Amino acid sequence: MQKISKLGVLTSGGDAPGMNPCIRAVVRTGIYSGLNVVGIRKGYQGLIENDMYDMNPRSVSNILNLGGTILKTARCLPFRTDEGMETAYQNLKEQGIDALVVIGGDGTFTGALRFSKKYPDIKVMGVPGTIDNDLYGSTYTLGFDTATNTVVEAIDKIRDTADAHDRLFFIEVMGRDSGAIALRAGVCCGAEAILLPEKATAIDDLIENLRAGQHNKKSSSIVIVAEGDKNGGVYDIARRVQNEIKVYDIKVTILGHLQRGGSPSAFDRVLGSRLGYAAVKALLNGHTQKMVGLQANNIKITSLEEALTQHEFKLEQDLMEMADILSI
Ligand code: ATP
Repeated sequence: MQKISKLGVLTSGGDAPGMNPCIRAVVRTGIYSGLNVVGIRKGYQGLIENDMYDMNPRSVSNILNLGGTILKTARCLPFRTDEGMETAYQNLKEQGIDALVVIGGDGTFTGALRFSKKYPDIKVMGVPGTIDNDLYGSTYTLGFDTATNTVVEAIDKIRDTADAHDRLFFIEVMGRDSGAIALRAGVCCGAEAILLPEKATAIDDLIENLRAGQHNKKSSSIVIVAEGDKNGGVYDIARRVQNEIKVYDIKVTILGHLQRGGSPSAFDRVLGSRLGYAAVKALLNGHTQKMVGLQANNIKITSLEEALTQHEFKLEQDLMEMADILSI
């Protein structure tokens, strides 16, 4: 087994709360294990632009509570090209880096797998870091818990004002392909309806559901719409419903990027620490082209190939059914 000596760590794709605790764990576990550790700025862009710096245990002091990522992140188009990958490889060789921990979503994993197949002397280990919670191989991804808590806090406040005015609110939350945040937040906030990319909802059914709520003397209603819902966007849905239900004053709120920010929750701090620690251990044990994840509260290693091909992620059916019943 080829031993590793110098480890690079990067964050890539969308930022997610919990990335910093994970970086801290990677740096400290690496150094504790006798490795040199290098921080790579702005994801794969830093590999191509040779934007890297030596890290020590103090480089990651006092970051457990910080949202975002101290290494910055980017969406890097040149890394998709052979030339970009070649430049990245040459820079890594020049720096003497022989292993990488990449923290990000499925795009990040796709890049890591392609790169490592081309240049297998660079070992790679993925850590699932995305607020979308849509990666195979880990029940939870870094940032999902914090983002959901942020959404819940915001919707609780909207519920107060909705109730005071007998209003119906449509609230758009993040999730272009994943309804994970919408579903959890919907359960937490008692949403009257949750519109998800994974499940088609007919607007007529939604209207009927809201009318039933009125009939049952609900004083306010909250409909959560994931970004990727197929009904044409939150404003369009609100307009179509307003045309049919005149009693309610309908308002729309788009929560937007505030969902990405904020101090990581206790859950995400523990998860980031566990996954960062496990990623370095896995590399030291000879694993490559894999990801570490959490399954049944245990760390599990899954090949990137499997994680990416089994990508079809399914939302919990029981939560969907339960949310409908509990919102009568
Ligand atoms: P999120 O789930 O938050 O969007 P992500 O990791 O899926 O995170 P992407 O922007 O899809 O975010 O991917 C991150 C980066 O990974 C891209 O900017 C690009 O540099 C690299 N990447 C994605 N797909 C490929 C690919 N097919 N080949 C090489 N690199 C890729």
